[in-house]
Amino acid sequence: MRAVVFTDFQTFPSLTEVERPVPGPGEVLLKVAGSGACHSDVAIYEDFAEGTPGAIAPGFTLGHEVSGWIEETGPGVHGFTKGEAFLAYGPIGCGHCKACSRGQDTYCENVASMPYLGIGLGRDGGMAEYVLVPARNLVPLGDADPVDAAPLSDAGLTPYHAIKNALPNLAGGGRFALVIGLGGLGQVAVQILTALTGATVIATDMKDDAMRRAEANGAVTVPGGENQVAAIRELTGGRGVDAAFDFVGATPTIKTAQASMAQGGRLTVVGIANGVTEWSFFTTPYESTISNTYWGTIADLHEVVAMYRAGQIRPEVERYSMDDALEAYRKLESGQLSGRAVVVP
Ligand code: NAD
Ligand code: ZN
Repeated sequence: MRAVVFTDFQTFPSLTEVERPVPGPGEVLLKVAGSGACHSDVAIYEDFAEGTPGAIAPGFTLGHEVSGWIEETGPGVHGFTKGEAFLAYGPIGCGHCKACSRGQDTYCENVASMPYLGIGLGRDGGMAEYVLVPARNLVPLGDADPVDAAPLSDAGLTPYHAIKNALPNLAGGGRFALVIGLGGLGQVAVQILTALTGATVIATDMKDDAMRRAEANGAVTVPGGENQVAAIRELTGGRGVDAAFDFVGATPTIKTAQASMAQGGRLTVVGIANGVTEWSFFTTPYESTISNTYWGTIADLHEVVAMYRAGQIRPEVERYSMDDALEAYRKLESGQLSGRAVVVP
């Protein structure tokens, strides 16, 4: 079968022929319906080098945002029928520590002894015709479209988890949320904020078309540039935003978000552009916080699927055939996508 393989650091991935895998104990083989191209993949093959914090050793198929149909089940796996559609929860922890037991494999306490972080992250992922998934990582899609659903497992789950943690900041009237970076994750973030909170969603991106799409999803947009923070503050009546979500994570975007915060506000940095920032007592709004976040829990993913099935999350998808899978990554890298690229093998 064909697969998009991460062969070496700082090397564009290859579309190559690999063996179709056989499910081991506790695993299923999914026939891939859709596999989303995430900007984190670009970090994996392009930005990181050996020893960079976050780097994952090469030699695996990319794709951590995957949906598919049951093709085969491994030993000890019962209760699944061939052809049923599922979304794969990507993180794979030890499965028995406290974090894994609450469905938060992302924060597995035994991560140091795990041979991989998840599907498409150290072990073969879904940019292929078939993928192996532990049965405990399957989230049912029912009769929902599995191709459009593929981005939910990261572009849906990651913003959902970050927003859920910030809900106390957004409850009540007259609240404001800020979303920076309106790509795969950011557009879904706007949809989730609109569906779950009554907050005014202020959104920004370097690209005009991304801002127009955010407006269609319910946001008020503010262009970048020198007066951006003043414009954001003005929209909030001078108070600042109660929660900010930075889906870029570069030094300038973190600083913009930080300067836009209200007292007690919460800034969550989701993007992994490795920005740095400063903190000082008298220039920081009282009791405001800054946090990072990594993906979400499998329980969150069930809730994300429920929102998708209810029409509250509507991933905007650009479909690519396996022949054009590398083209999808080229467009993602150069900022030419206007929806999540999903490879349909
Ligand atoms: P994407 O390429 O689809 O979208 C990025 C968007 O940010 C684009 O619309 C781009 O125009 C915009 N942008 C870039 N620089 C900007 C700037 N300086 N100001 C304003 N807008 C800017 O990427 P994505 O797949 O949505 O991923 C977003 C980020 O989140 C990436 O850094 C990715 O690695 C990271 N990520 C983190 C997690 C996590 O668990 N923390 C999970 C998935 C992705
Ligand atoms: Zn664990």
